[in-house]
Amino acid sequence: MAATKSRQPKNKSWLISILLFGTLIAMSLVSLTNPQRSSDKKFADAPEVSISQITRGYSEGKFSKISVRDNKVFVETVTGAVLQSYKESRDTVSQLGWNDPSNATVVEVENREAQNMLVAILPDLLFLLLVIFGLIWLFRGIARSQSTAMSFGKSRAKVADATQVKTRFKDVAGMEESKEELVEVVDFLKNPKKYTVIGAKIPKGVLLVGQPGTGKTLLARAVAGEAGVPFFSIAGSEFVEMFVGVGASRVRDLFAKAKRNSPCIIFIDEIDAVGRQRGGAGFGGGHDEREQTLNQILTEMDGFEQETNVIVIAATNRPDVLDQALLRPGRFDRRIFIDKPDLEAREKILEVHTKNKKMGKNINLNVIAQKTVGLAGADLENIMNEAAIFAAKGKNKTVSQKDIDNAVEKVALGPEKRSRKLSEKEVRITAYHEVGHAIVGHLCPESDALHKISIVSRGNALGVTWFLPQEDQFTTSKQKFLDEICGLLGGRAAEELIFKEITTGASNDLERASAIARNMAMRYGMGDDDLGLVTYGEKQGSMFQGVDPSTARNYSEEQARNIDDFVRDTINKQYTRALGMLKKHKTKLESITKTLLKTETMDKDEFVEIFTGKKAKKRK
Ligand code: ADP
Ligand code: MG
Ligand code: ZN
Repeated sequence: MAATKSRQPKNKSWLISILLFGTLIAMSLVSLTNPQRSSDKKFADAPEVSISQITRGYSEGKFSKISVRDNKVFVETVTGAVLQSYKESRDTVSQLGWNDPSNATVVEVENREAQNMLVAILPDLLFLLLVIFGLIWLFRGIARSQSTAMSFGKSRAKVADATQVKTRFKDVAGMEESKEELVEVVDFLKNPKKYTVIGAKIPKGVLLVGQPGTGKTLLARAVAGEAGVPFFSIAGSEFVEMFVGVGASRVRDLFAKAKRNSPCIIFIDEIDAVGRQRGGAGFGGGHDEREQTLNQILTEMDGFEQETNVIVIAATNRPDVLDQALLRPGRFDRRIFIDKPDLEAREKILEVHTKNKKMGKNINLNVIAQKTVGLAGADLENIMNEAAIFAAKGKNKTVSQKDIDNAVEKVALGPEKRSRKLSEKEVRITAYHEVGHAIVGHLCPESDALHKISIVSRGNALGVTWFLPQEDQFTTSKQKFLDEICGLLGGRAAEELIFKEITTGASNDLERASAIARNMAMRYGMGDDDLGLVTYGEKQGSMFQGVDPSTARNYSEEQARNIDDFVRDTINKQYTRALGMLKKHKTKLESITKTLLKTETMDKDEFVEIFTGKKAKKRK
């Protein structure tokens, strides 16, 4: 920490205090030693006489000394008395006749004009100085409080000392292959000689690629922890500030700091914030600041000497937008892909995050892992944390399986909103809608397995029918897509069948169904014969993270119409199919809905029990 703190020279504020104090003393001294004052005292009570009396006294030799100061005349008589008088300013000593060389009287004219000037302006001068110092002081105070603005050229990399990184590989669950690759990096950092002696080059950059929350940062920290080296971490977005040129100077600063601390690791998070393709068209093109920053990173990495034992680890979830120059050999030529965790890894991650919590007995994490297909490590951590919160709220001493179940639902579906009051009719419609999804999904052979139905409002949804995907599906068949569409339309079909009227409740379902159908036609070559095995639409890199790349139209009007036709036909066909299934099982639809309205939630076993009319085998 100490290394990043900008040094505040303490003695400088001391200097200012001393200066101010000194000024005050000088000011009072000046006014004390003012000659006007001291002589005024002597003549303060002197009797005033007219100027002609003085002239007479002078010629009669009655005075020992006459002092003329501006228009004032002070006289000391030979007897030691004092007198004072005033003269016209135009009267000079010679005009008054006081310059008789034979006269023994001492005539003193104090020409204090210049001195007067100084005395007159000195207080003003000092006051001015005081104000200036005051302003400087004030400014410094403001500057200190906005130290970010003042030290913007300095890298904001947070420096963790070697001892501070406590993360180890054992804290990273799963990801065995990724860890294996990084073991090498740890070895490079620990025993660089072993490699350089043979003439092997130590890699300079490692790029971790993976979706948010998959543990990239965690892994990078673990490498530093295992190697026992300092860990400098900065986010790409921190390079890009409002001042042009700051990014580049931060990079310079960061690398300089790292080199002084070698061996060490520089971790650049979200490198896509600066490392996007340069000179691209569109909004992002020609962003000078980003370009300069990126260039500086490349220059610094090229400038590493073989002895410089600094390894740069960068993380991104958008490798597709990265500038090719970053991926060249000698830069981030090692790429490690981090996938979302599979069943086994999820169970291990959950286990890691039970370690710091008081867990109840008989917790089955495998069941939880099965329910959390598609979630990343960060989500799982979140689930365990929510579970602990549920437990604490329920005043339990330990976290129970039920707490974890609740947490899974909250994380997957959003928090329950029991306070949202729906009218009785709305609740009935919602119930039929959800049971419609459930029945159709259950009857479609390729559909994901039903997990739960609920008519408790959650997040934006009034109700939810929760299907869980089977594990490890990397490809999807055409039939699965169709079944998915059919299931999505089941809700709307049920509404129409029972109420003969249509609500807006299904709009999200329709959107998703249409998107699937459109993708079938445009991306997967699953459209009809007119469309063939061609993909339609050209992906363009997105400018902003998280926004789907826009697609440029690279097909004719005619094909556009064919795509639209396919989408409409597919949706219509599946809707008819869903409606048919529900008509056939209308009594089941009624009875299940009746139960759901009473219980509010229903799991798969209860559903199957009513649907098939026999007791379901309890699935583990
Ligand atoms: P990323 O940088 O990829 O977005 P993080 O490394 O910040 O993800 O992960 C966020 C949190 O999720 C971590 O702090 C950690 O607690 C948890 N996590 C993610 N992956 C794992 C894992 N494989 N093992 C243990 N915890 C994990
Ligand atoms: Mg991260
Ligand atoms: Zn729905």
